[in-house]
Amino acid sequence: MIRILVTGGAGFVGSHLCERLLNEGHEVICLDNYFTGSKGNIEHLMDHHYFELVRHDITNPYMAEVDEIYNLACPASPIHYQYNPIKTIKTSVMGAINMLGLAKRVDAKILQASTSEVYGDPTVHPQPESYWGNVNPIGLRSCYDEGKRCAETLFMDYHNKNQVNIKIIRIFNTYGPRMHPQDGRVVSNFIMQALSGKDITVFGEGTQTRSFQYVDDLIEGMHRMMNTRDGFTGPVNIGNPIEFTMLELAQEVIDLTGSSSKITFMPLPQDDPLQRQPDISLAKKELGGWEPKIQLREGLKQTINYFDDLLKKN
Ligand code: NAD
Ligand code: UDP
Repeated sequence: MIRILVTGGAGFVGSHLCERLLNEGHEVICLDNYFTGSKGNIEHLMDHHYFELVRHDITNPYMAEVDEIYNLACPASPIHYQYNPIKTIKTSVMGAINMLGLAKRVDAKILQASTSEVYGDPTVHPQPESYWGNVNPIGLRSCYDEGKRCAETLFMDYHNKNQVNIKIIRIFNTYGPRMHPQDGRVVSNFIMQALSGKDITVFGEGTQTRSFQYVDDLIEGMHRMMNTRDGFTGPVNIGNPIEFTMLELAQEVIDLTGSSSKITFMPLPQDDPLQRQPDISLAKKELGGWEPKIQLREGLKQTINYFDDLLKKN
């Protein structure tokens, strides 16, 4: 048994990670400021003997004796991270400094949840880790993209200068139960709209693509990355390489829900990437043959069930 700190543990991905780590018999400290996460996401873990919940903002230092840190705290959906862009950068940059400082002091291994957004609107397709990206430094998405890029830099510098044992993963669009129903991301939007008979809002012409990963596949990849050999830092892409247009996604959600919702077109947001698809060769090689197991249709069914239950409760 080891003691593991999960920042952003009350969020969508963090709550699944806490659950997985507890199931393996570890002690978990879940740290969150509840900006986009909620106690509801981890309610089922509260009675667990080895689960501890701490309200804390990672822009402030945090002290604890821990063996591993998963640094997930950061709003991930565009409407949330653009709500207070300065706070978003502070969370990524000061949060990284505080968590890396902690890792250095207690000699903990630390994993950074980075993002495919470091590739911006990519000119290379699919994106390998060696691609440096095409990011607008002064646009609406910059607070998130540049914050995450700077966090990667800090992780590498703490590794190179202070020998901190770091791991970096670049997560591609992930969906599943416990996504915030109003967080504006495409999967939750389309499902909520379909279930409540509202128009499905496709931005632009709906020809832009994303590759959607089910949350369980991400948790498996993340966990394997934390347990790779010492000295292997990544970054490693973790995503599902099967690419869909937003129109295809909308149609799939309509089919699976049996909804009578119609598709409506709305303006494409500024700097919205046209294409996104991970090259996962490195993940397969370094993470013991890891690859996504749950394909879109199956994952959407699980997620639709979750949102359906949520709507019935409210
Ligand atoms: P989320 O918004 O559900 O979770 C983020 C959590 O961090 C929330 O619980 C929030 O309250 C907490 N948080 C935010 N700022 C904080 C702060 N300053 N101090 C403490 N806690 C804070 O998002 P998610 O989808 O679960 O994403 C988790 C991580 O994975 C994020 O770092 C995100 O950038 C990364 N990521 C996610 C995706 C995805 O598709 N879900 C893709 C790429 C990267
Ligand atoms: N999108 C859409 N309708 C929505 C929400 C999003 O068509 O109601 C599009 C959005 O323009 C983008 C894609 O879906 O091209 C994925 O958006 P999301 O916010 O989920 O993730 P990100 O842009 O960060 O990859």
